[in-house]
Amino acid sequence: MINFNIPPYTGKEPEYMAKAIQNHKISGDGEFTKLCNKWIVDHTGVSSALLTTSCTHATEMAALLCDIQPGDEVIMPSYTFVSTADAFVLRGATAVFVDIRPDTMNMDEKLIEAAITDKTKAIVPVHYAGVACEMDTIMDIAKRHNLYVVEDAAQGVMSSYKGKALGSIGDYGCFSFHETKNYSMGEGGCLLIRDEKNTELAEIIREKGTNRSKFFRGQIDKYTWVEAGSSYLPSDMNAAYLWAQLEKAQEIYDNRMATWNLYYEQLLPLQEAGKIELPVIPEGCVHNAHMFYIKAKDLEERSALIRFLKENDISSVFHYIPLHSAPAGQKFGRFHGEDVYTTKESERLTRLPLYYGLEKEKVLTVCEKIKEFYK
Ligand SMILES: *Cc1c(COP(=O)(O)O)cnc(C)c1O
Repeated sequence: MINFNIPPYTGKEPEYMAKAIQNHKISGDGEFTKLCNKWIVDHTGVSSALLTTSCTHATEMAALLCDIQPGDEVIMPSYTFVSTADAFVLRGATAVFVDIRPDTMNMDEKLIEAAITDKTKAIVPVHYAGVACEMDTIMDIAKRHNLYVVEDAAQGVMSSYKGKALGSIGDYGCFSFHETKNYSMGEGGCLLIRDEKNTELAEIIREKGTNRSKFFRGQIDKYTWVEAGSSYLPSDMNAAYLWAQLEKAQEIYDNRMATWNLYYEQLLPLQEAGKIELPVIPEGCVHNAHMFYIKAKDLEERSALIRFLKENDISSVFHYIPLHSAPAGQKFGRFHGEDVYTTKESERLTRLPLYYGLEKEKVLTVCEKIKEFYK
């Protein structure tokens, strides 16, 4: 059986978790959380990074920091994971979906401006497969209309756009360290804060609305409840697990990239023969090999391909049912403009097995079987 995903594991995780336990500091913001936060700041150039219990929670924090109110509108793609929308509709906002670009599956930046109304508060680009959205255009629109930008960079750790780390370009960026992502702590994420001025409020929201972080740094002599907040900090045991992977981030990256490149090279003849389409990486984007997908002709061909691979013990998956067609999407959102590509392209896409340590022979087997299917 060739699995679709095996969560990353480097070997040091148990040792670091044991250390967190020996430190008698398994609650939040211990030694390992601090190491992870610093690593993220150093690798992205943001003012601060705060580890969270999930990317969903990081996005919820961003929605609170943007002061999203009932009736506000937030522009995002429909082709995304539910969390992108959840974080904002929980605050009473309406999700306004715009169509994607067929080449990258990212929100089409040319459609954003027409979706803006006087209720629009934020734009939420999702960097699908760790490939950047057209951020120069998006930041320019946000600046002209005075809107927040929250990057859903759940899949974008170690990716960049014109030299800038994904998650560091908008006001806020959200990473995921779920076990399906490139680096994992089981369940976890991070909120990236571009501007120093927003750090204090973010720390307060993350610590139940208290100024406890300031207290721990010795800046005040007692802490108190100063804002509405929640509890978004993970246990240091989970951070210890993640630290074992961030230490080896480049090795994991290189290993995944070698697999991605092998798939590309092996499947290119099928694209050249007009049978399938391969991912597109635009100029200026450096991706992180989060995902390798191919596009079949249509839904029917894709279903047959997934079935064929399964019969050959290869697990491949498709995803996102576009949010605007889901029950909650109809309740909490609306699609602006026409769905030209969102549904059509999502129905063509299949994700192939890709994880840290996936053996070369297995990749070659997957490619052989795909070629056999298209014969
Ligand atoms: C994985 C993912 C999330 C959610 O991440 P969690 O850490 O599980 O909350 C959000 N958005 C996108 C695009 C994702 O891929």
